[in-house]
Amino acid sequence: MPTRRKFLTTSAASLAALAVGPSAEAVALPTRPVVGKPLVISTWDTGLVANLGAWKVLSKGGRALDAVEAGVMVTEAEQNCCVGLGGNPDRDGIVTLDACIMDEQFNCGSVAALERIKHPISVARRVMERTPHVMLVGEGAQQFAVAQGFPLEPQQLSPDAEKAYREWLKTSQYKPIVNIENSGSKKPVGPVGGANNHDTIAMLAQDARGNLSGSCTTSGMGFKMRGRLGDSPLIGSGLYVDNAVGAAAATGQGEDVIRIAGAHTVVELMRQGLAPKAACKAAVERIAKIKGAKARDIQVCFIAVSSQGQHGAFALQKGFSYAVCDAQNQQQLIQADYLLR
Ligand code: ASP
Repeated sequence: MPTRRKFLTTSAASLAALAVGPSAEAVALPTRPVVGKPLVISTWDTGLVANLGAWKVLSKGGRALDAVEAGVMVTEAEQNCCVGLGGNPDRDGIVTLDACIMDEQFNCGSVAALERIKHPISVARRVMERTPHVMLVGEGAQQFAVAQGFPLEPQQLSPDAEKAYREWLKTSQYKPIVNIENSGSKKPVGPVGGANNHDTIAMLAQDARGNLSGSCTTSGMGFKMRGRLGDSPLIGSGLYVDNAVGAAAATGQGEDVIRIAGAHTVVELMRQGLAPKAACKAAVERIAKIKGAKARDIQVCFIAVSSQGQHGAFALQKGFSYAVCDAQNQQQLIQADYLLR
C-alpha cells in the first residue's frame, strides 16, 4: 500500500512532467480529506493541470461555478495547448473560440465563433450574469467582450498551430481525426494522420455544499469551415447541469454529439437511474447506432458526475483520458472505457 506521503510525491512528480507553462507552478495538491466532496473532473490529459486551478477554489470552500471557470482558464491560457487562442484555426487560418458555462440553478451562458479573446469562458459567464440572453456569437460576442473590458489579443497563430495549418494547407482536406491521449502524448490515428484536431476541455465540479456546475471551452475542430459551430458552446449538447440529478459534458466530433443532444441525454439517463458511466455509455451507443460503419471514423466521449458525487466517463474509441481531483483520491488520470474494440 502506498503511504499518503508517497502518493502525494508521486502525484506531484507526474503532474510536473505533464505541466505546460506557468499554470502548474506553485499549486498545492489537495491536502484536506473530505469524504466525497468537493470533486472536479475534466477531459483529456490537460485536465490534470486544469483541475488544480479548480481545486484552489474548491479546497477553500468556494463555489463550483467559480471552480469550473478558474479551472479551464488555466488551459485557455496555455500558448501551445489545444484550447483557447493557441488552438488550431479554421480553414481560413483564423482561430475562433466557443465556450459555455452552467451553474446549479439552470443559469447558463455561452459564446461562439469568438475571435481574439483569451478567456471565452469568462465572457460566457458574463453573458450568463450580465445579459438577458444565453448565447452571443461572432462579432456581437466580441463587441460584448470588449465592452466588458476583455482586451483584444493580436490575431496570430501559436507556433504549433501555424505549423499544423501549413501542413494542412498542403491537402486542405477536412476529415475527422480519432485522437488518442496517453500521459501527455497525442497520437492521432484514423483517416488522416498529422495534426491533432480535437481542441476542447470540459470540466464538471461539485463543491462542498454539494452544488454542481460545468464549463466547456474549445477552438473547435481544427480547420473547420468558417462559421462552423460544434457541440461545445451548446447548452444541452456540450454541457448540461441539473443540480438534482447530475452534470455531463462532451468532447469529440461535435456534429454527432449535437445529433443526440449529448450532455442533456446523459443527464436524463442518470435521472432514470443509470450511474454516470452507464449513462455515458448509453449515449455513446446511441451515436454508434446512428453512425453505423462510419462510427470508426470519429471519436466521441462523455464525462458525468451525479448529484451524489459519483463520476464516470465513456468513449466511442480507445484513447480518451479524463482527470479527477477529489479530497479522497487526490489526482488521477483515468483511461476511459470504450465501445469499439
Ligand atoms: N467537440 C469539439 C467540437 O466539435 C471538438 C473536440 O471536443 O475535440 O468543436
